[in-house]
Amino acid sequence: KNHLSDRINSMSTSATLAMAAKARELKNEGKDIIGLSLGEPDFNIPDFIKEAAKEAIDQNYSSYSPVDGYADLKQAIANKFKRDNGLTYGLNQIVVSTGAKQSLANIAMVMLNDGDEVILPAPYWVSYSDIVKLAQGVPVEVPTSIDTDFKMTPEQLEKAITPKTKMMWFSSPCNPSGSVYNKEELEGLAKVLRKHPNIFVVSDEIYEHINFRGGHVSIANIEGMYDRTITVNGVSKAFAMTGWRIGYIGGPEWIAKACTKFQGQITSGANSIAQRATIAALNAPISSIKFMIDEFHKRRDLVLELLGEIKGFNLNVPEGAFYVFPDISSFFGKTLNGTLINNASDFALYLLEKANVATVTGEAFGNDNCIRISYAASEKELREAMARIKAVL
Ligand code: PLP
Repeated sequence: KNHLSDRINSMSTSATLAMAAKARELKNEGKDIIGLSLGEPDFNIPDFIKEAAKEAIDQNYSSYSPVDGYADLKQAIANKFKRDNGLTYGLNQIVVSTGAKQSLANIAMVMLNDGDEVILPAPYWVSYSDIVKLAQGVPVEVPTSIDTDFKMTPEQLEKAITPKTKMMWFSSPCNPSGSVYNKEELEGLAKVLRKHPNIFVVSDEIYEHINFRGGHVSIANIEGMYDRTITVNGVSKAFAMTGWRIGYIGGPEWIAKACTKFQGQITSGANSIAQRATIAALNAPISSIKFMIDEFHKRRDLVLELLGEIKGFNLNVPEGAFYVFPDISSFFGKTLNGTLINNASDFALYLLEKANVATVTGEAFGNDNCIRISYAASEKELREAMARIKAVL
């Protein structure tokens, strides 16, 4: 008998982490695997951030911090929201958490009741649906395709709304598609939402700086949206601080207060040293991370060029984040070197076993025609991986 709760039994294991584990296993067997499955920058944390953490240790930042984060960190976050997003949030509207992932979990736990629907334009980030379900919400996937650059149209949003709709969650730049919603597109969505004042929006902007077109737009800045948008962000992607686990929100004060209350019973707040280091990260000029963005831009172009040479890959041009999300459905029903490919999972597995390249099936992100390839890897690895993929197809 399984003694675990229904809650955990019905949860799926993170597909990106599962693929990474499978790749590790093959590596341990001596296979030369190139891992393009994880959403993790392959840069080191800039030195000035490391120095701030070392100083914090020496200055004895070792006690519990305020549950919602140090006041001077929240001030740095408020300044950042103003500087980068034109958004004014007071300190009582900001909550610091153990990664943006926890920020999202807090929001789900404080906003959703049993049966509340959450609209997720698909493809969406792998954890959204399980976090929503954990809070007894119902994910409502709105499928998009490469034809609309994987973006939800206002018509699609309108159609998905029911009397039970409580929220809509999305990321721009998007993980996994790399799509970036521009101002007009967000205005189109906001126009629909203005007719439904009880729907709240989670705007996950963790990739905002990794945007090759420039001009990131926050939906909270669109007319009528500020009072019902929770803007989520963090330092994992922009500053390569994934393991330091700092994320944050800006939003209505009553939501921030509820998140603080919840977090006060679950974690007591984020790691004190990482919080101090985040002050240094956020106070630095954006120019300090431009080298990373330029590098990702170059790699995106390289991967698009190399994949473009492979017949059967249908590609859009991702404008941000560090993923490409090719539609590979042209391979479905085909037999490649004795392996029948029925779906995106078969395809990703085929690439892992035959080309020794780890990617992630699009199924995990709510789109089963695609795979996600992360280009947070060196140019050498990317060239080798694309050559291997080409060879086995
Ligand atoms: N949101 C999106 C869209 C992500 O891709 C990720 C990380 O992969 C997160 C949130 C979580 O980030 P954090 O490391 O801050 O928990």
